[in-house]
Amino acid sequence: MNNAIPYIGRFAPSPTGPLHFGSLACALGSYLDATAHGGQWLVRMEDLDPPREEPGAADRILHTLETHGLHWHGALEWQSRRHALYEDTLAKLTERGLLYACYCTRAQIRAAGGHDNLNCRGGTPGTDNGRANAAWRLKCAGVAESFIDLWRGEQHQQIGEDTILKRRDGLYAYQLAVVVDDIDQGITHIVRGADLLDTTGAQQFLFRTLGAVPPQFGHLPLVMGPDGRQKLSKQNHAPAIDDHRAGENLCTALAFLGFRPPAGLEREAPEHILKWAAARWQRQQVDRRDRQLH
Ligand code: GLU
Repeated sequence: MNNAIPYIGRFAPSPTGPLHFGSLACALGSYLDATAHGGQWLVRMEDLDPPREEPGAADRILHTLETHGLHWHGALEWQSRRHALYEDTLAKLTERGLLYACYCTRAQIRAAGGHDNLNCRGGTPGTDNGRANAAWRLKCAGVAESFIDLWRGEQHQQIGEDTILKRRDGLYAYQLAVVVDDIDQGITHIVRGADLLDTTGAQQFLFRTLGAVPPQFGHLPLVMGPDGRQKLSKQNHAPAIDDHRAGENLCTALAFLGFRPPAGLEREAPEHILKWAAARWQRQQVDRRDRQLH
């Protein structure tokens, strides 16, 4: 509705399994927030972690988005094809003396009372001292970051641990890739699930360290699993979205987000339902409570 605000949003699924209701609600919320603000909505496949990925999951996710009318702008991006950009960013941070090789487990760091008391942080930045299997960490523990979340309001976070940007198994870390890509794609608004709220401070710090203006963050409510305590996920056997019931799924997700689709809307084409919803999308109407679907 407000075309004056530059808006590039995105949905960034990891292909570890098909979409379930929680991830569909996030996709829908980010799509509607972008569309209602006259923005673009991109999709980026975060296929960064092959051991955790499920064969065929990326295609299933894309098929679900398409059958639900959630069409993205421009070309789809795949993180697996963007390694050169991550490597380049690591090289730049290394040159600036901000990265160091770490061989500690999280438990060891906790037992030592933080990084400062450990040898790794005190070592020469940028060198692994000839040892294999280093995790590469960005010096940031203790930094305070604040932001105003679109739904959760003022947030103050203190970064607890030096963020791992490259893992001990040699894979690029989510925290590195997500920020590098959000900067590269010019993302202005990140609308995603509240399970990622706690990592936002560290991501915001990385945006600023890389010389970028952090985007606006907004964290949507989580669909909780059967025990009511954990979010719906592959681990608690969340059922995959049934692509044959797109209308019903969209209306259920809309109701979860706090909107009231009229009876019968679920029988309309997904594009019609999305148009109905985009015309009524109001951020203040979103129900912020993490809860089960019914
Ligand atoms: N790929 C991440 C996930 O599926 C989401 C990344 C993000 O939205 O920042 O949990």
